[in-house]
Amino acid sequence: MSLPPLVEPAESLSVDEIRRYSRHLIIPDVGVEGQKRLKNAKVLCVGAGGLGSPALMYLAAAGVGTLGIVEFDTVDESNLQRQIIHGQSDIGRPKAESAANSVREINPYVNVVIHNTAIDRENVFEIFGQYDLIVDGTDNFATRYLVNDAAVLLGKPYVWGSIYRFDGQASVFWAEHGPCYRCLYPEPPPPGMVPSCAEGGVLGVLCASIGSIQVTEAIKLLAGIGEPLVGSLMVYDALEMSYRKIRVRKDPSCVLCGENPSITELVEDYEAFCGAVSVEAQEAVVDATITARELKEWQDADKDFLLVDVREPAEFEIVRIPGSVLIPKGEILSGEALAKLPQDKQIVLHCKSGVRSAEALAALKAAGFKDAVHVQGGVLAWVKTVDPSLPSY
Ligand SMILES: [Zn+2]
Repeated sequence: MSLPPLVEPAESLSVDEIRRYSRHLIIPDVGVEGQKRLKNAKVLCVGAGGLGSPALMYLAAAGVGTLGIVEFDTVDESNLQRQIIHGQSDIGRPKAESAANSVREINPYVNVVIHNTAIDRENVFEIFGQYDLIVDGTDNFATRYLVNDAAVLLGKPYVWGSIYRFDGQASVFWAEHGPCYRCLYPEPPPPGMVPSCAEGGVLGVLCASIGSIQVTEAIKLLAGIGEPLVGSLMVYDALEMSYRKIRVRKDPSCVLCGENPSITELVEDYEAFCGAVSVEAQEAVVDATITARELKEWQDADKDFLLVDVREPAEFEIVRIPGSVLIPKGEILSGEALAKLPQDKQIVLHCKSGVRSAEALAALKAAGFKDAVHVQGGVLAWVKTVDPSLPSY
């Protein structure tokens, strides 16, 4: 299905712009007309991280006239393996500012708009309202559903992408012409089922593979060329080096874009809707949580307990809390590891940030380890408050 161009052409291109964009202008399907449309376009990138980095750089280079960047985070050393819009000297700076600098360096004709904030239900309409098209580079389900719902309610298209380890997906969601994200994924995955990139890792270059698909789709929509990914899901497997296109139909019973929608405004609390941790885990940690400092005090006082690290072996290789033994969360949840655990000692669980250990704690308590506790903030809290000489990751 081809669609009409999303934006009207700008009045003219300057001599400098004609020189700069000449390799676009000589493509018949783009031409001066298409380039003028890009010049007149206003595109918002949600996130200046893994996907936002290549997306912003190519949108800028392509000559998109106005580029918005919404991002609240600051640049961390562990971002630089994939977030190529930032550099070594940007560590500690707001990502939105660092990204804006790079965009200006790539193309001074781009008008960059910085939204140095987290997108939320209070500001999303006001921010989205300023743009023709949204590129979603977020990495968590709460924001993804917020972006989708706001885009559908405003009648705006957006280009979605997601990445994990060696796998990527991309699509264009535009309720007027096809399905929305909720048609494809009506429910967020259960808490703890889908690890984030921070927990599961991502091959850096995968960001470029998926980010470039997102920009390609953005350009096609803005200029009205080709067949956009509306109603199609692109699935990329870097290990197999395969791209597959899967048909996605609009769900007539979709709660948001279906025939009788039950969602007609933004959901009250997207974090709660997507549940960062399960109800069981939330209940398990009550009165069973210690801080990293308390763990250190317990160790210094020679308290008798077993410290269990529920992360994965690769993470244990990177950094570990002294005295910990590794039993990955999966072995605890499956029950496989329960026989290995002593009955006569208190068990102290920890992971990277405290989410996985909370899930494991719920399983342990259900199995009868009543006095088990977990460490709030996990390894990250240990490195921050007890031993900053250890690496964070
Ligand atoms: Zn829908």
